[in-house]
Order: sequence, then C-alpha cells, then structure tokens
Amino acid sequence: MSSFVTGQIIEARCTRCKDVTGHVIMACLDGMPIKVECRACGSVHKYTAPGVAPRRKVETTVRVKAGHTRTEAVDATVKAEHRLVQLVEKKAAAPRLSKAEQQNIRKAEENEQRWNQVMAVTVAAPVAYNMNGTFPLHSLVEHPTFGVGSVVELLPPDKMDVLFRDGMKRLRCVC
Ligand SMILES: [Zn+2]
Repeated sequence: MSSFVTGQIIEARCTRCKDVTGHVIMACLDGMPIKVECRACGSVHKYTAPGVAPRRKVETTVRVKAGHTRTEAVDATVKAEHRLVQLVEKKAAAPRLSKAEQQNIRKAEENEQRWNQVMAVTVAAPVAYNMNGTFPLHSLVEHPTFGVGSVVELLPPDKMDVLFRDGMKRLRCVC
C-alpha cells in the first residue's frame, strides 16, 4: 500500500464541492492523509477517499416505546426525519423569490428610475387630468389616483400612454 506525504496532490471527496476533486494533503498520520485542502474551492477538511459515498443523513437512534413494535418505531422515526427534512427545505426556500416576483421588482425599479428621470427634466407644472382634456406629448398630467405622470405617447383619436411612478397607464383624452 502506498504511503502519502504532506504536500502531495491526491483525489479526494470534497465536503463543500460534494464531488471528487484534487486536494493537497495538509497533514498525514501513519502515512494516511487526515487533513486536505480542496484545489477547486479552497476548503480545508478531513480526508475522505474518492470511493466513499457522501453520508446522506445522520444516523438516528430508534427508540422503541413500550407497547410498540420495532417496525412501528422505525416507521415513526422515518416520518419524523421526513418532517424535519421538509421543514428545512421549506425554510431554505422561504426567502427566495420566484422569477416572476424578481422580474416584477426589477420592472418597478426600472419604471421608477425612468419616472424620476422624466420628472427631473420636465419643468412645466402638471395639468389636472380629465378625459376630455388635450395633453401635449411630454407634458405632465396630475391624476387623482396615479399622481403625476408624463405623457409618453399619444394614441389618436382618444387615448394616451402616461408614465406614472407606479407604471404606464393608458388614459382617455382628446388627441
Ligand atoms: Zn471543494
């Protein structure tokens, strides 16, 4: 059997990469590596041979209650572990936003940024909105619900797109 030395590069299972990667031996005991550094992620951990499968879960002691069979006790333990796994997974998933939610947030941020830019360059006072009014392109409109917005597009004969802080709205008007 070959002997290992400190500094030697070997293949080992990385606890962080969860894969077999190249490792530098940091410490040896009786010719066996005991501490290794992963060359992929740089983590220093105990040596695990490449052939050893990763440990999936901590072994649990099965307690058999009086009046229960061992099968029932094992079943209860498995169920309890399953609940724990579900709880951990749920907790891990909770702070994550869905793609749609992330997109909505990004869209709202982009809109507000655009709205701020428009507000910064427009000097004219906003005109109160009414559906029979005529509003020139790039003029400011004050809407009772949406607040102040800028006319970004006229859609003759009777519509316009107005950019408000909350987003683009299509309003009735006389073009
Ligand atoms: Zn690693």
